[in-house]
Amino acid sequence: MASATLLLGCQASKPHYESLNDYPVKTGSAKEVNYTPQQTKFSLWSPNADSVKLNIYETQAAEEPLQQLWLKRRNDGSWTATVKGDQKGKFYTFLVFDPAGTYEREETPGIFATAVGVNGRRGAIIDMRQTDPQGWSSDQRPAMNRQADAIIYELHHRDYSIHPSSGVQNSGKFLALTEYGTVSPEGLATGIDHLRELGVTHVQILPSYDYGSIDETRLADNRYNWGYDPVNYNVPEGSYSTDPYNPECRIREFKQMILALHKAGIRVILDVVYNHTYDVAHSNFTQTVPGYFYRTREDGSLGNASGCGNETASERPMMRKFMLESIRWWAEEYHLDGFRFDLMAIHDIPTMNAIRAMLDEIDPTILLYGEGWAAETPQLDEALRPVKANCLHMPGIGAFCDELRDGLRGPFYDDHVGAFLAGLPGNEQSIRFGIVGAIEHPGVDLSKVNYSHQPWALQPSQLISYVSCHDDMMLTDRLRASVKPAAKKQKQIDDEQLMRLDKLAQTVVLTSQGLPFLWNGEELMRDKKGVHNSYCSPDSINAIDWTLKARNKDLCNYYAGLIAMRKAHPAFRLGDAELVRNHLTFIDSPDCTVVFRLANHAGGDV
Ligand code: CA
Repeated sequence: MASATLLLGCQASKPHYESLNDYPVKTGSAKEVNYTPQQTKFSLWSPNADSVKLNIYETQAAEEPLQQLWLKRRNDGSWTATVKGDQKGKFYTFLVFDPAGTYEREETPGIFATAVGVNGRRGAIIDMRQTDPQGWSSDQRPAMNRQADAIIYELHHRDYSIHPSSGVQNSGKFLALTEYGTVSPEGLATGIDHLRELGVTHVQILPSYDYGSIDETRLADNRYNWGYDPVNYNVPEGSYSTDPYNPECRIREFKQMILALHKAGIRVILDVVYNHTYDVAHSNFTQTVPGYFYRTREDGSLGNASGCGNETASERPMMRKFMLESIRWWAEEYHLDGFRFDLMAIHDIPTMNAIRAMLDEIDPTILLYGEGWAAETPQLDEALRPVKANCLHMPGIGAFCDELRDGLRGPFYDDHVGAFLAGLPGNEQSIRFGIVGAIEHPGVDLSKVNYSHQPWALQPSQLISYVSCHDDMMLTDRLRASVKPAAKKQKQIDDEQLMRLDKLAQTVVLTSQGLPFLWNGEELMRDKKGVHNSYCSPDSINAIDWTLKARNKDLCNYYAGLIAMRKAHPAFRLGDAELVRNHLTFIDSPDCTVVFRLANHAGGDV
């Protein structure tokens, strides 16, 4: 006979923590939802909470919950509940009640929602496998032997395909990169075919997780943002999907994009922004465990190394676990092939090395690099910061080379000051430093390099070689602002000179031993009307006009030619510091020139 006694789970009593450093780390997965058709399990990490309530909603717009449950405390600081039956299609939030009861919390989908409704306000219960597009299970990363073979093209979904001249139907969406056969009005390839024609091996997409600056309920407003304002880190952004209200749609369409790019032989790098959140008061971190995920100064105020009002604390065990599992989620669930860390120097070296070790287990050709600087000084010991110089302590992790960038175009602090491209002497050693890949090399006089007086790379493929990216002016605008025209009566350099300088700049980038990196539209001689920071500028500034391709076909072909040359000659991508020292020599040459030779069958080249 079945027992009539209902055995209630024994709930752990509330522990006392002296400080948040004593909080236990959640065991098992950082994800809060585990769906099966039989039941859905919820678990939220919030060690200092008094209680946690789960709301289940029939729809994302429903005002009243269908069901509410009190979660049970566990010893690892998490709170759990199981809801029986098939919950697919429903929505959920957590509401945390804090110890003092003084802090008014808002409902949150948790820190690790993997599916959300519009604007990411409520979590969605879905079957992840039903978001897989046809052919997803057999999707493979395009072949790549070594990281040194990468040629990276950075693009923004909206820049790339929003202009009518792109010929793309799903303009500004993830699906834009799934459309084959799109052409400009002149019949030249655009979209994914343009990428294939150029020959790049990787695209780096600007932030594509759920971010906060675009209202997904008002997409007809045609607002623009780069997306450096994270809300839900583990869900694709809704405004790039065709239906942000449908939680499966953004996930499926993101995967369709990856699948199409992989079929085209192109790998995909995600720009990730773990260093700060859109805001603090309303963030999922604050609604879950206030204070834990952000660094503070000695006076208790928030650190602001991001320049966006806050900085996260990667050195705290649960934030580190969060970042590791988030990267794993994108690499495994979405088949991503690389990660570009925004303001990487805000994080900490052990976390970055742990991410590299984890990625090596998944696939050692997955790229990992970032900005080796912060906007302001982080609230963390200098020795622990993943700044450029500390790439020496982070094998397999790369950084952008501002020595080369500014040696070519001029310093970051003044758009009107030129450098090598403006014909100014004194930048030759900075160019050399970039060409060898920031490694120790007898041909580089480090005392004359603009920013670094020591090598900062162990291997040349740790260096990202570039002259422009989404930040700052386009190369065209910068050259117009900083290069004096030959004739006195000219106000600016003419297009012919501009194109010659553009070619020279990218010749340096694409013959460097680092990983070359191009910003979308430079090959078309696009400009941004001189705008320095176009993060929220309208389409009239940011959209690529594809009719430029016919006008500047010569430049576009030149880029493709440089890429083809690099691919044909392993001498340009030796991938090993000792090989670079053995095979690359600089030849003395007049001021304002740099000459180097790759000899003795470098890299097996003929
Ligand atoms: Ca969003």
